Amino acid sequence: MFTTVHANNVVDVIGRFLNMGVDPYNFVSALNCILAQRLVRLVCRKCARRTEYPHEFLVESRLDGPEFRDAVFYEGEGCLECNGTGFRGRTAIHELLDLSDDIREMIVDRKPTSEIKRAAKREGITFLRESAVAKVLDGKTTLREVNKVTFIE
Ligand SMILES: [Zn+2]
Repeated sequence: MFTTVHANNVVDVIGRFLNMGVDPYNFVSALNCILAQRLVRLVCRKCARRTEYPHEFLVESRLDGPEFRDAVFYEGEGCLECNGTGFRGRTAIHELLDLSDDIREMIVDRKPTSEIKRAAKREGITFLRESAVAKVLDGKTTLREVNKVTFIE
């Protein structure tokens, strides 16, 4: 591991380093990949119940698209097992950026973050937010929980 920094997503990490005055060429030569990880609480299986969220909340969470029309959401009601919190245990969500030659070149050329993000997307990166939403749609955690730990862009 090179180091640990705090940023909203792995592409922002690149900007963070370059703003610190790190030479882009040295930076990309020293780097293979950037990993972001957050922990989210798991819905308590004992008291998990289907829940309907207000439309505005889905819009705010960017889950109002047609691909989410049949989405089912769960929240824990709170029980003895979970001390009334509705959550029990934790799981990690990830975002991993493998530095391809194209992305290395973009960093050296100091291309804008938005452009690097688009390139990473084309190369198949799963962003932290997507990883989190997948866990929500899987019924493992709640939308409110992932909205606390991932940034809505
Ligand atoms: Zn419970």
